[in-house]
Amino acid sequence: MVADNADVNSNQKNEQLDVLLSTQKVVKKALEKLGYPNEVYELLKEPVRMMTVRIPVRMDDDSIKIFTGYRAQHNDAVGPTKGGVRFHPAVSEKEVKALSIWMSLKAGIVDLPYGGGKGGIVCDPRDMSFRELEGVSRGYVRAISQIVGPTKDIPAPDVFTNSQIMAWMMDEYSRIDEFNNPGFITGKPLVLGGSHGRESATAKGVTICIEEAAKKKGIQIEGAKVVVQGFGNAGSFLAKFMHDKGATVVGISDAHGGLHDPDGLDIDYLLDRRDSFGTVTNLFKNTISNQELLELDCDILVPAAIENQITEENAAKIKASIVVEAANGPTTMEATRILSEKGILLVPDVLASAGGVTVSYFEWVQNNQGYYWTEEEVEEKLHKVIIKGFENVYRTAEMRRVDMRLAAYMVGVRKMAEASRFRGWI
Ligand code: NAD
Repeated sequence: MVADNADVNSNQKNEQLDVLLSTQKVVKKALEKLGYPNEVYELLKEPVRMMTVRIPVRMDDDSIKIFTGYRAQHNDAVGPTKGGVRFHPAVSEKEVKALSIWMSLKAGIVDLPYGGGKGGIVCDPRDMSFRELEGVSRGYVRAISQIVGPTKDIPAPDVFTNSQIMAWMMDEYSRIDEFNNPGFITGKPLVLGGSHGRESATAKGVTICIEEAAKKKGIQIEGAKVVVQGFGNAGSFLAKFMHDKGATVVGISDAHGGLHDPDGLDIDYLLDRRDSFGTVTNLFKNTISNQELLELDCDILVPAAIENQITEENAAKIKASIVVEAANGPTTMEATRILSEKGILLVPDVLASAGGVTVSYFEWVQNNQGYYWTEEEVEEKLHKVIIKGFENVYRTAEMRRVDMRLAAYMVGVRKMAEASRFRGWI
């Protein structure tokens, strides 16, 4: 009997950590709240297309290693699908599917003419040479080339991928396509048709959401205590932006652990010392764990690393008044409920991290028109888009008396559902 209870508990916990299952549950709830029939959920609960590929790469020791990759296209009723490619040992089919649904929701919230896509390769770039990474990147593009393209599905960077990897992928696609095709992928270096402001776009979007959430909570950014989990692309720019706005960044972390100083960390120094994978804490002796970091005394907490960091185990111990999710899926649904009951204002991932895909969209528009905008123009446009998305979600949460995550899903799913209906799919 005891063993049975233990099994039930552990099954429940596993379900809560299953990002696809928990995303599907919220999508279902959002569609029900909006009054859509069940067949709409049946269409949207999984990607319309999912490709698994095997990528042979000759390694530096002359052996051949076979990598597994995925590309998920969630829903292309609104327009081509769009979303990053992740290089990580923990990449799985389920995770890529969930990430593609989140991309659809983001595109809906910030009103882009896209559906969601996502890709991933099971590999650890930290253990690979430049040449091996190039081989995996080019092999992936060859394997998925038939289902991607500037009017079909447009990849971008994500965890452990960067502008160099985007450049190799763009070059490979252009060779296959036999003409220069910058609009195939976003997050490229500027000289290859990248957009000003793309690298810091996610953090810019998160910063705008923090400012809006702080206004709602009556918190001044200047002097506010901020904790950021993850010091990669999203986390490091965010820490810098918060620091520059006069906030006190009291904690940061990476995969190895966290740093804490109640008087504020020297962010410029840490930025200077971090490596290209967002690692810096390995240079210090007095580190804390990532779990300790999340529970630090602060006003604003920004998870900017990986999934399932705030769970029912630690949600009650979170001391921040505002949690803004820069990472995808850092908070489980059970934890969302606990944070909401504690009166913490949670700005969900599908809204908070939409700055990246927004500037990716700007990059694609610039590639298509062959005319490029200044950094100021990009920033101004991004600001308008995120503010509008935030207000839409906040108003929906208030009017429909639901938490910000459900409100964001309601806003995000509507355009996709409507487009699918107009096309006669449902
Ligand atoms: P990144 O690879 O540049 O950085 C990831 C950071 O997380 C690194 O500091 C790494 O050390 C840390 N990390 C990895 N595993 C960890 C662990 N187990 N515990 C604590 N820290 C860990 O990635 P990124 O681009 O900054 O993305 C971070 C998150 O933001 C991801 O969830 C990603 O999907 C999301 N996101 C990124 C973008 C973007 O444009 N970069 C856009 C939208 C969402």
